[in-house]
Amino acid sequence: MNKRDYYEVLGVSKSASQDEIKSAFRKLAKKYHPDVSKEPDAAEKFKEAQEAYAVLSDESKRKQYDQFGHAAFDNNGMGGGGFDFSGFDFSDIFGDLFGSGFGFGGGSRSSSQNRKAKGRDSVMRINLTFEEAVFGCKKTINLDVNEECDSCSGAGGHGEKTCPTCHGSGQVTSEQRTLLGTFMTRTTCSTCQGKGKIFESTCSKCRGTGRIRKNKDIEVKIPAGVDTGNQLRLAGKGEAGYNGGPNGDLYLEFNVKSHPLYERDDNDIYLTLPLTITEATLGCKKDIPTLYGNVKLVIPDGSQNGDKHRLKGKGVEDVQTGRKGDMYVLLKVIIPKKLSRDQKKLFEQLSKTDLEDSSEFKKYKDYL
Ligand SMILES: [Zn+2]
Ligand SMILES: [Zn+2]
Repeated sequence: MNKRDYYEVLGVSKSASQDEIKSAFRKLAKKYHPDVSKEPDAAEKFKEAQEAYAVLSDESKRKQYDQFGHAAFDNNGMGGGGFDFSGFDFSDIFGDLFGSGFGFGGGSRSSSQNRKAKGRDSVMRINLTFEEAVFGCKKTINLDVNEECDSCSGAGGHGEKTCPTCHGSGQVTSEQRTLLGTFMTRTTCSTCQGKGKIFESTCSKCRGTGRIRKNKDIEVKIPAGVDTGNQLRLAGKGEAGYNGGPNGDLYLEFNVKSHPLYERDDNDIYLTLPLTITEATLGCKKDIPTLYGNVKLVIPDGSQNGDKHRLKGKGVEDVQTGRKGDMYVLLKVIIPKKLSRDQKKLFEQLSKTDLEDSSEFKKYKDYL
């Protein structure tokens, strides 16, 4: 960016006083104000002078500028290369120059009033059983939605006609007399709020809002594999748009109830299998209830508490890829708390044999 020196722009010396700076700017403003100037590059010149004045009239900004030049403001409110005037008050300069209430930019046009806008998104919590989440399901949900009013088709009134105040332009022009002569300012028409059109009568069904609240039942297909916290987006099922804009979206957020046996970790399922002390010691065959029916699992002899067996592909189908996770069977050896007389005898017999064959016992004994 090849920017002119601010002092040069205002035509003052580096040691100029605030009064000199102010008076120099006033002269330039009179000469280049886009609403009054006939100069071809008036707008550019005016903007340049505004910027120079905004900096040099502020002692702390002036100090920064004296030290660092234009670089002082490079990353400071100068997005896109334009100088940020927000927060700068020119009113003391223009108050007496142009009359109060003067706005820069030749009258700002209000376009936000009748612009199409998307409706708001909404979120709904859905409770699912473990199986519903794993296999997918259909749910009927009851919704309160803001829909376009069918009486006025969302317009908000009947008998649309051109606004008599602004004749359809949405803006009113008023004359402003100042010491520089007469010029025009434009403001948003207050009769039609800038829409350019008004209605003969306001719609009684929606009271002019163009939208009505409706209660509806809709059926939703919930895909297999969802989990707590997952969200499903239902496009266009949120609140109605504004001025004919599209509806917002509805997000269903799932809360999956826990299962009596299964523990879910992402797409894997964990199952704790209780074993008796003899089953673990001698080995056994067990029926394992998986999501897809029972499966026989061979538990080898000498199984330990906490041993883990993987049943490949018996987990949850991934909601995106459809790939199945695994199931893990965790062995939990249960030590009996109550024994019959016969059982007690057997254990006593057993205790006379040497069961301390593992290294764990050896390590402990060695330390003693
Ligand atoms: Zn209506
Ligand atoms: Zn109007």
